Amino acid sequence: MEDNRILVTGGAGFLGSHLCERLVRDGYNVLCIDNFYTGNKKNLAALLNNPSFELMRHDVTFPLYVEVDEIYNLACPASPIHYQRDPVQTTKTSVHGAINMLGLAKRVKARILQASTSEVYGDPEIHPQPEAYWGRVNPIGPRSCYDEGKRCAETLFFDYYRQHSLRIKVMRIFNTYGPRMHPNDGRVVSNFIVQALKNKDITIYGDGKQTRSFCYVDDLIEGMVRLMRSSDDLTGPINVGNPDEYTMIELAESVLRLVGGKSKLIFFPLPQDDPKQRKPDISLAADRLDWTPTVGLEDGLRETVSYFRSLLMN
Ligand code: NAD
Ligand code: UDP
Repeated sequence: MEDNRILVTGGAGFLGSHLCERLVRDGYNVLCIDNFYTGNKKNLAALLNNPSFELMRHDVTFPLYVEVDEIYNLACPASPIHYQRDPVQTTKTSVHGAINMLGLAKRVKARILQASTSEVYGDPEIHPQPEAYWGRVNPIGPRSCYDEGKRCAETLFFDYYRQHSLRIKVMRIFNTYGPRMHPNDGRVVSNFIVQALKNKDITIYGDGKQTRSFCYVDDLIEGMVRLMRSSDDLTGPINVGNPDEYTMIELAESVLRLVGGKSKLIFFPLPQDDPKQRKPDISLAADRLDWTPTVGLEDGLRETVSYFRSLLMN
């Protein structure tokens, strides 16, 4: 198995770079492709000279002909600021990207994992969200390019599974944070930490009572690898995330406790279609992957703060 070649799309991004490192550490040969839309070669600095690692500039909206045994399909901008900058390209990346990677998986008989998202549940009426919930997504709003693109990708995965007997794994990732998040991607954890480190005010959208559940990146990657290595009958969709739920005000207070400084909370209007609450039901992952998160928010934030502190100093 260790001689097998693994393709990671979007491998120069936040999650992708952690995944590439983990797979190389486990002894695999990794081919990373990325168009560097939000990713960066610097995220892969530790791997660039490793003979088990190869980096190729490629856009998943175009076909790719390589020989691999497993595909992790992560290519797609993930933060609202980034995915709303060029919404047409975001949908193309999810949909054409899925078609191209599924076509590749079919040709080379590879197992393929899709990085789907809790956004497929939209602004949910069911709490916490189990995999059986079909979601409440606005099909024509500013978040739709991402949400509906990811939903269509899931559809394609299951049609390839039913029609072509492909070995698929669909993972619904809930908000994940950690070192190598993009400092300007507008996501709440990076925003609050960078603002606190610069002694700027903390920007709370809405009344700050909306909730999210934050998973530390190492936990997430462990869940992803376990899902890929699980038996073929486990297709997902399967939620992976940390069920500890916080309001944005609680998150801001935790960040301020760790960073110190003089920042105050300031309030801005809530963006359109911003989900009011989100928390994964992870009983399926616990049961089938023997996976539960191990890193609490305080510990994960500490690691992330120290990453951003050195990034800002440089
Ligand atoms: P990221 O923006 O850091 O990484 C995405 C990577 O994909 C980047 O390196 C980017 O350059 C690359 N990319 C974008 N479009 C591409 C294209 N057309 N062709 C090739 N490469 C392309 O985001 P991330 O947080 O690492 O997210 C990775 C995946 O996980 C995404 O698919 C995202 O939807 C999913 N996800 C992430 C989270 C989270 O909280 N981080 C939550 C749910 C789902
Ligand atoms: N948010 C906030 N201040 C910020 C950035 C985000 O209050 O500076 C809020 C945002 O409105 C949302 C939550 O934090 O309710 C999570 O936002 P993020 O963009 O990180 O993720 P998503 O909305 O995709 O879950």
